[in-house]
Amino acid sequence: MARRKMVAGNWKMNMTPENAVSLIKTLIPLVQNEDVDVAFCVPDLDIIPCLEAVKGTNIGIGSQNMYFEEKGAFTGEIAPDMLTSVGVEYVILGHSERRSFFAENDETVNKKVLKAFEHNITPIICCGETLKQRKQGITLDLIRMQIKIAFYNVSPENAKKAVIAYEPIWAIGTGVGARTDQAQEVCKAIRDCIEEIYGDLVAKEIRILYGGSVNASNAHDLLNQPDIDGGLVGGASLKVDFGKIVNYDKIQTESN
Ligand code: PEP
Repeated sequence: MARRKMVAGNWKMNMTPENAVSLIKTLIPLVQNEDVDVAFCVPDLDIIPCLEAVKGTNIGIGSQNMYFEEKGAFTGEIAPDMLTSVGVEYVILGHSERRSFFAENDETVNKKVLKAFEHNITPIICCGETLKQRKQGITLDLIRMQIKIAFYNVSPENAKKAVIAYEPIWAIGTGVGARTDQAQEVCKAIRDCIEEIYGDLVAKEIRILYGGSVNASNAHDLLNQPDIDGGLVGGASLKVDFGKIVNYDKIQTESN
């Protein structure tokens, strides 16, 4: 079965509820592509109005984080059933900004991944190396470790439903994305790692996105790589350009 492409927007800490709804309404007609799953991962306060705004479309709404406990004394956190009770389908876990600013680590990512599956939420699991780690030549080792820990104790049935986002930290928000060959190399290594853990069937089914300065100019080449099943898009998901990324297959470039 061919993997469906997916393009997910990560709005980060942007958009009041009112601005969020207005942006969603602008983007809805631009993100129509029957071959691509589209999701917006929005700030928690924007979730309910965004869900209302996408009603009747096939756009999914996701959160950008979630705690690994059910409820209780965890000030400032959001519980999985708070998300599912309103219709959230996706959650970004282990984004590098959460790792670097909020002490997220591979172990907490794993706990959150397990909890997300318990509640039938699709995790978008982020991994990626710093520029220093790339220069040290440890990118593939590091990514394999991140993946192995994130998927620890995750069943094959759940693993194949996960979405992985390879996001080199040096490419996030910098305007300098990874070259297509660099992105493809790591996404293939991730698929190989999944194959080692779960076998061929899960590896063939799991979706691996690339994220890091994806825009309307580089989307076509990136998303046409054999192991890249879509994009996790930050800055450009707040602009009409997001529609061009979702419709990457219609962009004319020198390579097509
Ligand atoms: C991100 O934050 O996940 C991201 C990829 O950001 P940007 O597209 O702005 O680099």
